[in-house]
Amino acid sequence: MLDKKSFREEAHKLVDWMADFYDNIETYPVKSKARPGDVIRQLPKNPPIKGESFDQVFKDFESIILPGMTQWQSPNFHAYFPANSSYPSVLGEMLTATLGAQCMIWETSPAAAELEELIINWLKPLMNIPANWTGCIQDTASTATLAAMISAREQKTNWSINQNGFDNQKLRFYCSSETHSSIDKAIKVLGAGAAHLVKVDVDEHLAILPAALEAAIEKDIKDGFTPCAVVAAVGTTGTLAIDPIDTIGDICNKYDVWLHVDAAYAGTALMLPEYHSMIKGIEKAHSLVFNPHKWMFTNFDCTVYYIKDEGTLIKTFEILPEYLKTSTRGHVKDYRDWGVPLGRRFRALKLWFVIRDFGIEGIQTRLREHISYAQWFANQVVENENFELVIEPALNVVCFRMTTPEKAEDQLDQLNAELIGAINDSGEAYLTHTKVNGKYTLRMVIGQTYVQKHHIEKTWRLIQNKANLLN
Ligand SMILES: *Cc1c(COP(=O)(O)O)cnc(C)c1O
Repeated sequence: MLDKKSFREEAHKLVDWMADFYDNIETYPVKSKARPGDVIRQLPKNPPIKGESFDQVFKDFESIILPGMTQWQSPNFHAYFPANSSYPSVLGEMLTATLGAQCMIWETSPAAAELEELIINWLKPLMNIPANWTGCIQDTASTATLAAMISAREQKTNWSINQNGFDNQKLRFYCSSETHSSIDKAIKVLGAGAAHLVKVDVDEHLAILPAALEAAIEKDIKDGFTPCAVVAAVGTTGTLAIDPIDTIGDICNKYDVWLHVDAAYAGTALMLPEYHSMIKGIEKAHSLVFNPHKWMFTNFDCTVYYIKDEGTLIKTFEILPEYLKTSTRGHVKDYRDWGVPLGRRFRALKLWFVIRDFGIEGIQTRLREHISYAQWFANQVVENENFELVIEPALNVVCFRMTTPEKAEDQLDQLNAELIGAINDSGEAYLTHTKVNGKYTLRMVIGQTYVQKHHIEKTWRLIQNKANLLN
């Protein structure tokens, strides 16, 4: 077993390993080449009865675990959305693990609660979130959206479902056909039934059609349903489409419906004043979620959840067993009442480290760089006759595909699936795909913490080379 002395030695070695790993990260395949079962096959069926040396454990980490990892921190990672880390974030996370605190209420770690409150307040004016909103840090956007939907459910039914369960309340929820699967999951979990999530049509930019939303609400009322909540996307997962908050907000207020804004990825761009227009009308909404654990250089998990009326949230989630009664209750923020889990990690620490280390300007500079690289990449696509943009690029996401004059639409789908396979198998870059209006589309997401222009130039050359081999 590690003791005081060997802990210190191993920790020093590990930090060196971590720094070297980041220096050499581009020598690893970006997408792991492991096949199903490759990892488990190499490991013993039963756990060790006697403790093993850390040396041996670490050797196995390097030789068995590491090859089975996809390198999300590689600057050649352009898949999904980034799950960024950064040097200050790693250091913060090390301290969080060292303190190992359970930050469920103020008394169990006053500094954790107050740092969380401070950061929520720091970010508000920067991101143009209304001054009278409050918020907290949650584990994921999925959980925050679930909390928003349950709050909407309780407010709409005067807290009767919390108390008595569903009693034939026919609640309806709305989002566009492009919104994230976490909305479907939330509606399933909160007991309304997936069939009561209405998927509203989108326009040519894949943003929700407000008139179609209002028509759906009107029809539901006529049919005896109770409209409960709308989820608007600021940056859909496929193409970063932005639903018009201002217009949707008017509709929600007219029908007394909760408006939750899912800005999980694109919300980070609100750190740039030039993107505040993405949430024009936000004061009409009730809640917003965004993930610093995607594009804001803070390692998973770290989700910021903003809410207009914290009273509704707390009334929905409050619990008060004897062992959690404290004398400070009511004077401090006890975040266990702000969402589903009781136990809470000290997530504010790493975000605080990141913000202080980068500075707001440092964060803004990096975001603007990423956006400019995406614009450069989009221009290359436009100027190359073998490729086309599938939809106007947004922020740092470019949706594009390979084209050839002689190939029919369905052959193009197949061709682009082969292209992405060839790129990812090379181990030199990793991209994922989406469907845009039925077309198989490659997504180039340029948001990794330490990505530079030359990485994008190299990946663009790689894409062209692989495409030439298929032509
Ligand atoms: C990533 C994402 C989510 C889910 O985020 P988690 O934190 O993994 O739950 C939800 N909505 C959008 C738009 C996303 O991009």
